[in-house]
Amino acid sequence: MASLNLVLIGPPGSGKGTQAARLARRYGVPHISTGDILRQAVRDDTPLGRQVAATIAGGSLVGDELISSLVAERLTRRDTDEGFLLDGFPRTLNQAHVLDKLRDTLTVVHIAAPDEEIVRRLSSRRICQSCALTQSVSDAGNNEDCPYCGGRLVRREDDDPETVRKRLATYAALAGPLIDFYAQRPGYVEVNGLQLPDKVTADLYAALNARL
Ligand code: AMP
Repeated sequence: MASLNLVLIGPPGSGKGTQAARLARRYGVPHISTGDILRQAVRDDTPLGRQVAATIAGGSLVGDELISSLVAERLTRRDTDEGFLLDGFPRTLNQAHVLDKLRDTLTVVHIAAPDEEIVRRLSSRRICQSCALTQSVSDAGNNEDCPYCGGRLVRREDDDPETVRKRLATYAALAGPLIDFYAQRPGYVEVNGLQLPDKVTADLYAALNARL
């Protein structure tokens, strides 16, 4: 069978991370989230983490070269031979060109969601300090624990409203050309990210199963 090289594109807060985890599990491919890799490096205080910490906290993108070489290195690992799911890469046309050189067949999934909904969602988004799962809390001020591992739920530093606006502006400027670039291709799928998460997942499975 051909390998399943999935690329997930969607604005911050579109539910991309949740859907990515589900798709990776369902299709048995590694979930490669560039944001997760960078945040882990920051937590571990590695040289990479120290290099990118301020950029991430400020809601800007790290350089194309740095992120592209990180992904290129990750895609040399054997666990990607049968496929992978990329979450958060490519974010720019430059990065898309790099990915084209690394793999010749891609299935690109676009989860579409407008800005107003995203600002609302991100204000209730929390990440678990222990297991790093992302989830929503019922109101912004409460103090819930992670329902999966009991760890402490915290707001991502880059989810504060001002930084969210900056991330959305960055996304809007770069995603348009990126989506135009991929939308012409046969492997392109778009789903409506405004639906309930299980419905988004069902739409994704339906669209992808039709292509397998
Ligand atoms: P994410 O979890 O995908 O929202 O990524 C969090 C942050 O990591 C972004 O705001 C960027 O600072 C950085 N980052 C992740 N992926 C990329 C990428 N493909 N290009 C540039 N910066 C990235």
